[in-house]
Amino acid sequence: MSTSGTGQAPGLLEIVDDTDWTRPTPGTDPLAVEYFRRCAEGTLSIERCADCGSSQHYPRGICMACGAVPDLVPVAGTGTVYSFTIVRQSGTPPFADMLPYVLALVDLDEGPRLMGNITDCDPTAVTVGARVQAYMLRATQEIAIPLWRLAES
Ligand SMILES: [Zn+2]
Repeated sequence: MSTSGTGQAPGLLEIVDDTDWTRPTPGTDPLAVEYFRRCAEGTLSIERCADCGSSQHYPRGICMACGAVPDLVPVAGTGTVYSFTIVRQSGTPPFADMLPYVLALVDLDEGPRLMGNITDCDPTAVTVGARVQAYMLRATQEIAIPLWRLAES
């Protein structure tokens, strides 16, 4: 994976409004708040270090490779399924109402791996190596949560 930044800003991702968000929302860590605020604007971001070129997710505010302060930069919102599971049992609301659902590890085209749900498909249609496209589900006025759909092939 040798993708380097070209300086070209990716387009904004689709934002879906959830009028009945009952899942937990992220905490109040300032780095997380900024990350999810950008999601609410349709932008998925990772941290990229201008000093050493390393990329990472989640936002930490310090480069894990060299210790410099990384920049939060937009990414395309496209990736590949690294691994996944189909959750079929949960007694915990509101997740019990979502069953079955897919929880996946997605390798972004820009490098970092992140976890998220793959939605809007038969869970058994998900495969390791499948291409996925991010979208944003608005959880509150301020933040949105990045989710994934199988990409059109
Ligand atoms: Zn660095």
